[in-house]
Amino acid sequence: MRQHIFEPTILHHEPTPIPDKQNPFESMMARFDVAAEMLELEPGLYNYLKSPTKQVIVSIPIQMDNGAIDIFEGYRVVHNDILGPSKGGIRYAPDVTLEEVKALAAWMTWKCAVMNIPFGGAKGAVKCDPSKLTQIELEKITRRYTANLLDIFGPDRDIPAPDLNTNEQIMAWIMDTYSMHMKKTETAVVTGKPLILGGSLGRREATGRGCMVVTLTAMEKLRIKPRGATVAVQGFGNVGSVAANLLHEQGCKIVSISDISASYYNVKGINISRAIEWVNKHKLLDGFTGAEKIPQETLLELECDVLVPAAREEQITVQNAPRIKAKIICEGANGPTAAAADPILVEKGVLVIPDILANAGGVTVSYFEWVQDRIGYFWTLDRINRRLERMMRQSFDAVYEAAQKYKVTLRIGAYIIAIDKVAKTLKVRGIYA
Ligand code: NAD
Repeated sequence: MRQHIFEPTILHHEPTPIPDKQNPFESMMARFDVAAEMLELEPGLYNYLKSPTKQVIVSIPIQMDNGAIDIFEGYRVVHNDILGPSKGGIRYAPDVTLEEVKALAAWMTWKCAVMNIPFGGAKGAVKCDPSKLTQIELEKITRRYTANLLDIFGPDRDIPAPDLNTNEQIMAWIMDTYSMHMKKTETAVVTGKPLILGGSLGRREATGRGCMVVTLTAMEKLRIKPRGATVAVQGFGNVGSVAANLLHEQGCKIVSISDISASYYNVKGINISRAIEWVNKHKLLDGFTGAEKIPQETLLELECDVLVPAAREEQITVQNAPRIKAKIICEGANGPTAAAADPILVEKGVLVIPDILANAGGVTVSYFEWVQDRIGYFWTLDRINRRLERMMRQSFDAVYEAAQKYKVTLRIGAYIIAIDKVAKTLKVRGIYA
């Protein structure tokens, strides 16, 4: 089956070599190149927009609970701050690399531009395994990482948020450390904070809710009814579990879920509330009794209407893309599809809602949180969810229109909108010298 409106793009210059795996920054650049070519971006602007504004590596020495001193490595990359203060999450992972953080920072720039949010893009990380750290060690790492980056962070400069393995508590420690140094409480320096510290209602569910909204919008385009539509969700953390739950509430049948420990399948549909209860109690899905255990790699290739990869980068590759059977892929994770797999999915007629649109609900409600902190007035959950839904639908429609106009995929349509917006703003601001 070939996709009706979205055709592969013909390039007029030598493209960035497309890697299949391992380098998310090159994967991002491969898509950037196609969009830049279609926009006929001049070489100076091309080079400007591909280069991160700042890349900082910090050393984080910590006295561990056993008295030994361990050194951790931390990163913060500000990709671009042309549209406003830079914004982006912080992830804690043992295998995180600077290249990965660079890609994630660039995706944030494009995501904020696609969503019409007045933020630039950034991302941060600490190379550590939180499952092997005590709360005290985790707090020390977070506070020292923040202290090392005081010159970068700030409510008008660069605003972190949660990402893989970081949460509300970690955001609270960042906000407190920053505030101690500034000698005043500065709630707007991070988003994804606990409600009691100026967090926003709806922030925790925002990314999964955004995934649900764009999935329903895509279903409308393909005339798939939500009731009874089958869905498989890879990753059962903040994004995956909320997306699964909300799609289930819309009448979809969640036939498969997975996390780092195991994958489960139930043709009749999995009871998502029970799976969430299970993970709250046992931390991991492994051992869940409401479905049949299947091999990890099977989930992505299941017969289903919608696939939501909501775990990590580079899960859909040239190896498994030919076996994917979903009609819609909603990229809850950042960069779950390798650039080399894109043409295979186009050929198969899969409608891919790209990460920079699909998972933008998180940064959208982070933006709402930042606005509320600054005006000192907090909105109702109903207002937040309505505004989120409106912005997600508007951006989906804009991306869909761009894709039709340029005869490209939704992914390239989203990059075209984003790059065009940042490039135009840069031209008006000019280059300071
Ligand atoms: P999380 O830590 O809450 O959850 C991640 C989940 O993925 C966990 O269930 C984990 O066990 C699972 N997982 C990890 N590796 C896996 C694998 N190989 N196979 C199957 N499952 C695996 O993280 P999160 O906040 O839900 O983030 C998930 C993805 O969404 C990341 O790519 C993140 O950058 C992206 N994202 C998150 C947000 C947000 O607001 N949290 C916003 C935008 C994008």
